Amino acid sequence: MKKVFLDALGCPKALVDAERMAYFLVSHEYTFVSNPEEADIIIVNTCGFIDKAKEESIETILSYAHLKKHHPSLKIVATGCLTERYKEQLLSLLPEIDHATGVKDPFLVLKAIESAGYVDSPTYTDTRWKKERSLLFSGLAYAYLKISEGCNRRCGFCVIPSIRGPQRSRPLEDIVEEARFLREQGIEELILIAEDSTSYGVDLYGKPSLTLLLPQLANIGFSWIRLMYLYPEPEVLSIVKTMKEYPSLVPYIDIPLQHASSRILTSMRRGGNPQKLLSYIEKIRNIYPEIALRSAFIVGYPGETDEDIEILARFLQDAQMERVGFFAYSDEEGSFSSTLPSKVSKKTIKERISYLATLQKSISEKRLSRLVGRTITCIDDGQEKLLRGKPYRLLRTPYDAPEIDGVVYVPWKDSFEGKIFHQVRIEAVHKSYDLKGVMV
Ligand code: SF4
Repeated sequence: MKKVFLDALGCPKALVDAERMAYFLVSHEYTFVSNPEEADIIIVNTCGFIDKAKEESIETILSYAHLKKHHPSLKIVATGCLTERYKEQLLSLLPEIDHATGVKDPFLVLKAIESAGYVDSPTYTDTRWKKERSLLFSGLAYAYLKISEGCNRRCGFCVIPSIRGPQRSRPLEDIVEEARFLREQGIEELILIAEDSTSYGVDLYGKPSLTLLLPQLANIGFSWIRLMYLYPEPEVLSIVKTMKEYPSLVPYIDIPLQHASSRILTSMRRGGNPQKLLSYIEKIRNIYPEIALRSAFIVGYPGETDEDIEILARFLQDAQMERVGFFAYSDEEGSFSSTLPSKVSKKTIKERISYLATLQKSISEKRLSRLVGRTITCIDDGQEKLLRGKPYRLLRTPYDAPEIDGVVYVPWKDSFEGKIFHQVRIEAVHKSYDLKGVMV
């Protein structure tokens, strides 16, 4: 059996691609090792979303190249978004790469290993994926499930539609089948992902269909089901109504808004204005007052002025969202925005992010302080940390997604072992974004 080491970079969508690859390789007599030095084949699942991710992908590939000195037959295979975008350039610039394949078909990583050069598939279809996912990399109790691939929108800054293609939703029954399989593996928290979850089903059923899918998933037996990457459309209000009906659908949504200034939103080809966005958030909270909102904003889009930043700052104050991420704009080759004039300097972007992040820090802290005194069911992802020399377990509330949101520091006890969920009394906010609590 050939030994494979897989380094999965990038977002949860890329992680699911890597898990699919792993399944496929294991079912073709490959075995996985946790030490790259023991591998016959190293696969790097690259990310090509922003400059920093591209650099990390290239550095990761290069970091394995030295192993070839001691293991001349070692093969390095690059796959994922970066190779999808820059396959020819990568193969010619990095002779360390033996084979490369893009994101369109994780099956092809096998062909890539067994042949030379780049392999592409014009016949890719998502419906092939049902429950074929035996290897889960994400953690102890949660798993991501992709409900569709690609995106039909054309946000000015984004090249994802050109990398991952148009939206292709997976049939309801395939998603339910994969969800059942994940539940049988002991997964307690199912996290639904897509490029644009709000539009799930439009290509397949002629209308957004998340409200049809969610009740079916809610009946499978997961303790928690979480929704990520919702595009802000009126449909989200029906989704939130559905969430409220099923206790396993956690009161949390991730809804990237990208900006609040109407001038910038128009240039981003997204539309909207602060008043509209605020009334939208108000409607969501009226339907489900307990809901926690996560959003993300791009700072430094071409043409962005101090005035636009003030509009965004006022919006953040008014919206009082629990979790917010700020991302520095960078020109992506092939994007509409890369052709726009009036670029904002890196220094200004950094200053603007720092200003907005400081503002949001106090908002997040205020929102979190509302949980102090409450007893909340928290999930255990198995992480531990020392605080002033004392061991703590890092748990997570239903209002927090793994990897991107906060944690609850709970003093370590033997009784953590063997249980996934714990009742935790929240005692304080810790460093603005996290909580401290005790087991009850
Ligand atoms: S909705 Fe998301 S994936 Fe689709 S174009 Fe906009 S930013 Fe890109």
